[in-house]
Amino acid sequence: MRISVWCPKCDLTNEVLADASWAAGEMHESGYVKAQCKLGHAPVLGVQEPKFVLLFDIGACAYLDGYYREAVGTMNTAIERACELFVQVVSETRGTPVGGFDRFWAAVKNRSEAQIGAFLLAYLYEHGIACGFFEKEISVRGKRASITSFRNRVVHQGYIPSQAEAYEFGESTHHWLTDLSVTLQAAHPESVRRIQEEYWALQLEAAEKQREKITAWMSGGTIIEWAGGVEHMRCSTFSEGLLDLSDHRIWQTGLVDFLPPGVERPQSHRDRLLRRMTAFSPGPRKRDRTTTQSRLN
Ligand SMILES: [Zn+2]
Repeated sequence: MRISVWCPKCDLTNEVLADASWAAGEMHESGYVKAQCKLGHAPVLGVQEPKFVLLFDIGACAYLDGYYREAVGTMNTAIERACELFVQVVSETRGTPVGGFDRFWAAVKNRSEAQIGAFLLAYLYEHGIACGFFEKEISVRGKRASITSFRNRVVHQGYIPSQAEAYEFGESTHHWLTDLSVTLQAAHPESVRRIQEEYWALQLEAAEKQREKITAWMSGGTIIEWAGGVEHMRCSTFSEGLLDLSDHRIWQTGLVDFLPPGVERPQSHRDRLLRRMTAFSPGPRKRDRTTTQSRLN
């Protein structure tokens, strides 16, 4: 994923010249980012926020861009990764020997239903009550549907959700993830700290393998802010989070060109776009598949 970060070198040398301090880079699977700022610095930054927080933000970006299906799919992955973290924290707190959780998770890694099952049991042991999130209902095409059946339709059956459905799913997910994060961090700060340190160590290792050296760490600025600890966790609503994210993106993208390397925006881009729009207007006649095909060609 391509993201923008604050260049720590510009920051240190006080070279905060309008747009100079923003650096764009690609996030490695392990979480670190190798970026490049407009002054030519190439900082390698570790990211302190866990995977589920980053995935939730990616889902929110998809929502803001109008990709509602991708938004639901990615937020659903955020839920699954939060479940994994929950089981890991509970397992750590209960003194599972080193490597025990990893061996357990390896057995369910490729089966999302088994992962949710593991989470539901851990949740029951932790709170003494069943977790009701997956049965929570949202409105789908005028009828009530559970979170589970909705995400199954979207992820496995190709259902294209509406803006309102994606929003309701996002809002419910945000509310639940925030609650889960606050209660987990408040109950088990030591286990959370140890697991976070492990995650950061993995980023250092991954960077080293690529002959990179992480020189600074970043956290926060995400809709759910996990890494700062429970006392710094923002408890805003989903809509406030979207607004912040939107402002942040406008602020950054006004300053940084987000086109990937090797892709240049030609001068004739706008003309070409207008020509294509004209080619599709007023649209094919009903049942005239040949016309549709030739227009697409
Ligand atoms: Zn710089």
